[in-house]
Amino acid sequence: MGDKVPRRTLDSLVTQVASELMGVDATTMVAATEDVLARLIDHFDVDYAYVRHTDRELRATILMAEWPRRAPIPNPDPMHTVSFDRPHFLFGEIEHATEPILTGPMPMCAAMREAFGWDREISHLTSAAVPLVSRGEPTGLLGFVKAGERDWSTREINVLKAIAALFAQLQARVVAEEQLRYIALHDDLTGLANRRALLEHMEDRLRPGSPGPVATFFLDLDRLKALNDFLGHTAGDNFIRTLSGRLREHLDPHDMIARLGGDEFVIVPAKPMDAVAAELEAVRIQQLIGRRVVVGGESVSRRASVGVAVGMPGETTVADLLRGADHALLSAKSGGGNGVAVFTDAMRAQFELQDDVELNLRGAVADGSMLLHYQPEVDLRTGRIVALEALVRWMHPTRGLLPPAAFVTVAEATNLAGELGRWVIRSACAQFAEWRRRGLAGNVVMRINVSPVQLVSLDFVERIEDILRLFGIDGSSVCLEITEHVVVQDLARTQVTLRGLKRMGVQIAIDDFGTGYSSLSHLKALPVDAVKIDRGFVQRLGASTDDLAIVKSIIGLAGSFGLGVVGEGVETPVAARTLVGLGCYRAQGFLIARPMPADEVEAHLSVGRIPLELDLPRVGRGQTAR
Ligand code: C2E
Ligand code: CA
Ligand code: CA
Repeated sequence: MGDKVPRRTLDSLVTQVASELMGVDATTMVAATEDVLARLIDHFDVDYAYVRHTDRELRATILMAEWPRRAPIPNPDPMHTVSFDRPHFLFGEIEHATEPILTGPMPMCAAMREAFGWDREISHLTSAAVPLVSRGEPTGLLGFVKAGERDWSTREINVLKAIAALFAQLQARVVAEEQLRYIALHDDLTGLANRRALLEHMEDRLRPGSPGPVATFFLDLDRLKALNDFLGHTAGDNFIRTLSGRLREHLDPHDMIARLGGDEFVIVPAKPMDAVAAELEAVRIQQLIGRRVVVGGESVSRRASVGVAVGMPGETTVADLLRGADHALLSAKSGGGNGVAVFTDAMRAQFELQDDVELNLRGAVADGSMLLHYQPEVDLRTGRIVALEALVRWMHPTRGLLPPAAFVTVAEATNLAGELGRWVIRSACAQFAEWRRRGLAGNVVMRINVSPVQLVSLDFVERIEDILRLFGIDGSSVCLEITEHVVVQDLARTQVTLRGLKRMGVQIAIDDFGTGYSSLSHLKALPVDAVKIDRGFVQRLGASTDDLAIVKSIIGLAGSFGLGVVGEGVETPVAARTLVGLGCYRAQGFLIARPMPADEVEAHLSVGRIPLELDLPRVGRGQTAR
């Protein structure tokens, strides 16, 4: 029949097939191929058509699509995977063929009958197998089978070759696209999913109607950097690869395991689980990772921290879930590493606050929503107010009055500490000067907390000098408080700054003394006037003998260096009495007075004393304050 088909129809057939195959990708390839095969069967009046793919590694030809689909498909299917080692009844020896192979008519045999399931009375088959050729290499086959006899004209064969070329292109393109897609979605070191694949997967899992809750684990290997440093990067890479393989092997094959780079992994288990189940699973994963690995001839183990968060499809966003797990990880790590932490509502509140603080802090310093409270410090024997400590507060537009713990660290982390610190010093001095003008606070020292960042800023001393001059305050009425660990961190720089302050007579106190690492030698090297005993020790005086011993030795130490000493965190009469008994008379604490707004302090300042009912032993009363 071949020559009966007019040339124009044949040409337009190729064009049609070309356009049908144009937008096809891996997911639509089979269906589109079947459509084309159906059209070709019609056109060429044959009974069966197929496209096969050549697998060079297997050395076999594999069925990709056929039309019509055989039903039932025999099992095993003699058409599916056909090794090149043995000539096949249909397409003979095609491993290296690049030209069409026309066979038949050949007598119908049992093998053919079985392969096609044709039970009609058919005596002969005719077949045409046209190799798909890509860059000179056969990559597959486009084939046709006719029950009975059929001739193929040269023109028809040429058209089939053109269509085979289209299929060859399609196959090559899909393979390339799949490779690109693989690269785009996988981490090249471990072959695990990468960030992009993880996000796609989570997007899917959190779609409304998907099964939930969905757990997410954020993993981080503790101190991997040390491993890289000591054993080299290749060893570090091998270690990561081994761990990845171990995860892949021990987890459900459907679990999403992604590496985000470095030593960060995220796992999204396929099974829905609540927070309780997720925590158990996280512990299991953590133990899995903790097992030893041999790299570079050394047997090493790295402990891991795991942050866990659980979300609900339709409610939780991918970003929220990941951020939750990340925050939980931070909290697991801050517990010293090797921990598992589950993201809680309390953590959420904490991190929301932090985000919010970061967002609003800059404006707050400028727009007047910062304020100072003042906490009196007294001589315990007389109740006389000897100092005021300025403590910063933030009147937050929606969260109310925030304590420094909520924003000072954020300020330090975001370069705002300098600005905030300058505001505090300025405002405290302004208030102080005003009180003095009105005859209040004459013998009182103003204590101001200074953040580490301020101390190392080069113009700190000049700024203080300017402010003191502006408000007419003498340096010795001001005491700057610095925390102990700052002193230890940058001794040289701190020394320069402190000496400059001393030249103006400004006093220096070491805050939270006893919690850092300063040794006697540091104290000797720095021009310090006083230490404030950390409130942790003072609070437990009367309850803890350890703390009593520490407080005793701090007071002794201060005495031997000629330093003043202040007890802070005095909450109970027994603590106050103990301090007095040990010779520490200056104190601050809720028992005496809480930090309070300026107008309330004024009332106390005008009296000059805060009376205390301490029932002190006689020895204490007679002595004078240091
Ligand atoms: P700090 O310098 O040790 O300040 C004393 C803190 O202890 C204050 O907390 C005060 O309210 C609290 N306190 C006082 N007496 C007691 C007591 O008897 N029991 C207990 N449990 N606590 C007591 P606050 O105001 O929340 O300040 C916390 C920390 O924030 C301060 O600790 C200080 O390190 C920092 N800070 C406060 N204001 C500033 C500031 O203007 N600049 C800088 N850089 N840091 C500041
Ligand atoms: Ca302080
Ligand atoms: Ca303190």
